Order: sequence, then structure tokens, then C-alpha cells
Amino acid sequence: MKIAFLGLGIMGKAMATNLMAAGYDLRVWNRTAERCEALAAAGASVAKSPAEAVADADLTLAMLADPEAAAEVVFGDSGVLEAIGAGKAYIDMSTVDPQTAIVIGREIEAAGGRFLEAPVSGSKKPAEDGTLVILAAGERALYDEAVPLFEVMGKKHLYLGATGQGASMKLLVNMTMGGMMALLGEALALGDRCELKAEDILEVFGAGAIANPMFALKGPKIAADEHPTNFPLKHMQKDLRLAVGLGDESDQPLPMVSTANELFKRAIAAGEAELDFSAVARVIAVKRQD
Ligand code: NAP
Repeated sequence: MKIAFLGLGIMGKAMATNLMAAGYDLRVWNRTAERCEALAAAGASVAKSPAEAVADADLTLAMLADPEAAAEVVFGDSGVLEAIGAGKAYIDMSTVDPQTAIVIGREIEAAGGRFLEAPVSGSKKPAEDGTLVILAAGERALYDEAVPLFEVMGKKHLYLGATGQGASMKLLVNMTMGGMMALLGEALALGDRCELKAEDILEVFGAGAIANPMFALKGPKIAADEHPTNFPLKHMQKDLRLAVGLGDESDQPLPMVSTANELFKRAIAAGEAELDFSAVARVIAVKRQD
């Protein structure tokens, strides 16, 4: 089976690398061509456009920044839609809103192609380790065929139903994670005011009912004010924005998520967009005046 991979950012590069290591023959494309170099050095062929990548492949995977990027790659000049056709499959693993997934899926299928959405839970390290959680929805038969690929990229994969359900599930995960990160930032900032040591706070948190891997991983980063990018803050704000939109469409109030969204917007305005999403703590902590 010939596979194409579109989008070699933090996540896409790691996922494509694992597929190559598992023996799959890959054709790759990335908007910024230089980001294909590492995969090309490992033996991947490089396409000049999404259409060129799709033309040569039975199945195409995409891992793109946001709804705008996901749509641009499908509907833009030399996009996926120009080359997709009977028997060709497209699996979009980007985090987008349900409506974007539905529109992309509908147009791919109208052109004769097959579609699955498969956003992922897990960050840079799980992508590198092949331990993502894959949240798929769309064509069931395509899901079944893609399981061997999902087993290379992830530790768990679920089929969630009609297209859009994967995006909704992914937004639930990230709205919870964004809210938790904001709350961790507040707890550490208040702890600092109370002259409690961050390491003691994190030890106590880790010993009780609120223990979780994210606090264990990100707490020390917040305490040290070091935010090497695993999950760009701008993408977390995008996911909070999409979750707020889904809440609007669903008539479901989301006061906590809306507040977290405002904090992440403030962090972007403060210049933290490209740092890890833990950098939201910077706009929460208030500098001591004494
Ligand atoms: P990233 O490093 O910022 O990579 C984004 C990718 O999208 C790059 O390949 C970028 O190309 C491409 N892109 C952006 N705008 C584009 C456009 N208009 N047309 C074509 N390509 C475009 O992001 P990432 O961390 O890999 O995340 C990718 C997706 O996975 C996002 O939806 C994110 O929310 C989701 N996700 C991320 C994580 C994580 O921890 N990082 C975890 C789970 C899910 P260029 O190289 O040209 O900029």
C-alpha cells in the first residue's frame, strides 16, 4: 500500500517517522519544503503539492495545524480534492471542529474518495513513542483497514461513529486539559504568594486524588518558567476557541472553558504563542511588589 503524509510539524514528523520505521513506503508533503528533509534523508519521496502526493498514493494521512490549514490543503490550488478519486482514502488527523471534518469528508466522498477523521490525544513524546490515542470517526470499513497504521502510531484507537464525533471527542479532551493547565498555573502562583515551595505543592498534588501525568510533567516546567514546545500554546487556544464554538452550537454553557480561552488569548497577546501551552502560567502569576 502506498501512503502519503501531509504536514510534518511537531506531530506529523514523529508519526511519519514511525510509519517509515515500521516499513511503510511514504511520500511526504509539507507547506514549508525544508521540513521534509529529515524524512527524505530516511528514504521518503517528497511531493511538490498535496495533489501530487495523493495522486501517487492509495491512502493519504494529514496532520495540519487548524481548520483553516486542513481546508486549504484539501480545497486549495493543487489540493487533495484535485487528485482524490475512486478507491483513494483520506484520513485527516488534524484537530479541527466537527463541521470542518464533516465538510471535508463530504467533499472527498463526493469526489469518489473515502474519508475518516482521526484526531489524536497525546503530545510530542507519545507521537515519537507511538503511544497516541486515536479518535476515529467516518467510514467504518476504512477504520478497519487503517488499524495496522493506527497500531504503529498509537497505543489505543477508537471508532466513535459518524464524521464529526472524533473532532468533538478531541475538543472535550483539550478543553479539559486547557482548563487544568490554567488551574495548575493559578495554584502554583498562589502557592508562591503563600511562600510554599513548588516542589512541595507538586508532591502533595501527585500523592492524592488530583494526581495526573500532565501536572507531573508540566508542573516543574511552570515552576522553572521553562516552556520548550511540545504542544504550541497557539494550538491550545485554537482548541479552546473551537470548544467554545461547539458549546454555542450545542446550547451548552461552558463558563470554565470560556475563562480558560480568555487566559490563553491573553498569553498569545503577550507573545507566548509559539511556546508550550504551559506558558499560560506566565500571564497568571502576578509579580511580587515587595
Ligand atoms: P505544528 O508543529 O504547528 O505543525 C503544523 C503543521 O500544519 C505544519 O506542517 C504546517 O506547515 C502545517 N500548516 C499550517 N498552516 C498551513 C496551511 N495554511 N497550509 C498547509 N499547511 C499548513 O503543529 P503540531 O503540534 O504538529 O499539531 C498538528 C495538529 O495536531 C494540530 O491540529 C494540533 O492541534 C494537533 N495536536 C497537536 C498535539 C501536540 O502536542 N503538538 C497533540 C495532539 C494534537 P509549515 O511547516 O509550513 O508551517
